[in-house]
Amino acid sequence: MRNPVWQTLMGICLLMMTALLSWRAGRLEPAREAAVGTLGEKDFLVAIDPGHGGRDPGKVGAEGQLEKEINLKIALKLKEYLEASDVDVLLTRTKDEGLYDEGDSSKKMADMEARCRMINEARPDAVISIHQNSYQDEAVNGGQVFYCGTSREGKELAEILQKRFDYVLGEENRRSQKANDSYYLLLHVNAPAVIVECGFLSNPQEARKLESEAYQDRLAWTLHMGIMEFLNKKKAETL
Ligand SMILES: [Zn+2]
Repeated sequence: MRNPVWQTLMGICLLMMTALLSWRAGRLEPAREAAVGTLGEKDFLVAIDPGHGGRDPGKVGAEGQLEKEINLKIALKLKEYLEASDVDVLLTRTKDEGLYDEGDSSKKMADMEARCRMINEARPDAVISIHQNSYQDEAVNGGQVFYCGTSREGKELAEILQKRFDYVLGEENRRSQKANDSYYLLLHVNAPAVIVECGFLSNPQEARKLESEAYQDRLAWTLHMGIMEFLNKKKAETL
């Protein structure tokens, strides 16, 4: 036989649990909407290419800083920021290695071909190749973004990133995005692609900044913000 008091208590308990669950759902919903709402249902994929690696150090800084190491550190931070914004990320390398076999006669060419193949197979929405610059005149500094002259979307991405870059690097960064039709990667990937030269390792002050974790983080955050702006624009165009 059922006890009416017990039944009433159970009823109240059930009501309270339902109320609690719908309150929690209500609280969670806006957060989920905000995360997804930034880009919509389509999953965006960004390929990040940390330039050089393995035998190829890239540019070497005034105090021995290696371009390949700085490129990878910025790329890994950028990956974290993009993934936190629900963007899928493909990294062409995750450690200090080149994408060639020891038996390859031209390791540089094998490496570049492998990077482009990997990127084209993944069909990303944008490609960011991270590099550091160098020049015989020590005084030259600043970040600069390059794109392929025949790519409208590549140019658009470069303009967005350069603008963000100037904002972060301060007034002394007077560079502007530039078309470059000789970079192998820009010519061989089938997606909007840019080469981001974050700064000059030949400039001692800039080289010191580039190897600091705080500055790498700032660069990664800035690139992430620019990429999100580009992807959101892309999404708006397809609606
Ligand atoms: Zn480089």
